[in-house]
Amino acid sequence: MENSFEHRGHRGGSRGNFNRGPREMHKATCSSCGQECEVPFKPSEGREVFCKDCYRNKKEQ
Ligand SMILES: [Zn+2]
Repeated sequence: MENSFEHRGHRGGSRGNFNRGPREMHKATCSSCGQECEVPFKPSEGREVFCKDCYRNKKEQ
C-alpha cells in the first residue's frame, strides 16, 4: 500500500497577518496651549503633556 500522504513541508507564506489594532489613547490636556488632546500613553499627574503641535514646537526649539 502506498502512502502518498507525505507531508509536503511548510509552504504557508501567509504569515505576518498581524492585526495590531488601534493604539490605546488617553485624553489629556496640553500643558502648553490647553487644548484637549490624546496621547498614546497614560498621562500621570504632575506630568506635562503636550499635544502634537506643541510637542513638535518643543522639539524644534
Ligand atoms: Zn498644545
